[in-house]
Amino acid sequence: MTEPTTQGQMAMKAWRLHRSKADRLEFDDVPVPEPAAGEVLVEIHAIGLNSSEMQLVRGDWEGPDTHRPYPMIPGIEAAGMIVAAGPGAPAHRVGERVTVHYRWACGDCDECVGGNENTCQVAAAPNAPKFGRTIDGAYAEYARVPAGFAVRIPDQVSYTDAAAMTVSGGTAWHMAIVRGQLRPNETVLVTGGSSGVGSMLVQIAKLAGTRVAATAGGPEKARRLRELGVELVLDHRADDDWSAGFAQLSDGAGIDCVLDIAGAGTWPRFMGSMRHHGRIIVGGYMSGDRADFDLKESTIREIAIAGASSWTRKSVRDVLGLAARGDLRPVVGATLPLRELPDGLRMLRDRTAYGNLVVQVR
Ligand SMILES: [Zn+2]
Repeated sequence: MTEPTTQGQMAMKAWRLHRSKADRLEFDDVPVPEPAAGEVLVEIHAIGLNSSEMQLVRGDWEGPDTHRPYPMIPGIEAAGMIVAAGPGAPAHRVGERVTVHYRWACGDCDECVGGNENTCQVAAAPNAPKFGRTIDGAYAEYARVPAGFAVRIPDQVSYTDAAAMTVSGGTAWHMAIVRGQLRPNETVLVTGGSSGVGSMLVQIAKLAGTRVAATAGGPEKARRLRELGVELVLDHRADDDWSAGFAQLSDGAGIDCVLDIAGAGTWPRFMGSMRHHGRIIVGGYMSGDRADFDLKESTIREIAIAGASSWTRKSVRDVLGLAARGDLRPVVGATLPLRELPDGLRMLRDRTAYGNLVVQVR
């Protein structure tokens, strides 16, 4: 909390988007928000940066969250300490270290009751509250959030690591374990392996006991993936045939599961190597969302294609628990101070980043 404003309210620094598609953020002084009923105030220590935010600032975010007031504070990923509780919120949690789950869920619809809060029917509405999308988010010194969406960080996990792995780890766990149901000795392909999500996917796939292939662009990113235990690294920029590598890695059996965040561009390069009953888990589409593949082949070999949409608080708890025991570590490619946050978004845009980017606020 910095200087009091003329009204006597405490002020904070925040990066704000002043209009839709502005393609620039302003470093503003704004009042520290007051937690409303059921909400807590989080003093932010670390912010994770995500490509979807870069797209939102630039104006080419094509997600469903379009209704928001301006100016608004973007950012879907923040870790910090609860410093105040609003009416009805659990006051005993003041002082707790937490990471913020970005997407509110009603807790009562068929999807929520079934354990699938990530596909909550109420939260699917365009104006439903979403941290850093329809309401103010992470790019600030403080944020207010519903108490239930502040997820406790284990003592052994730093704010930086928590901010790096809430989105990337939650996404990766939901794709690989919840939707992909990886089993030991399977052969797995991770597309987009050097991204924040990709570097978590390959680690989780290794923890599950699988043989892992992953795509990356260039020798430096390939080297880092090998350090994470990836047995076969494929350069998506080169025009070579991947099938011999898949055959060797799987002892001729083929790929059991593709964890795909790269999107349509890689499908023609792995479809012919899918094993019978293989499955493709689609969690992103950086290279395009219209895949071209042979329906006959996928029918004859009974290949399953399944979507994976965001993640749940349970997935976040699972990855934080693994991190607390030292079994999982987010790859933090760079850290930046708050005043340099837009530089991080530029790194995401130019794809010069490796792994996760974290802004350290305090
Ligand atoms: Zn719901």
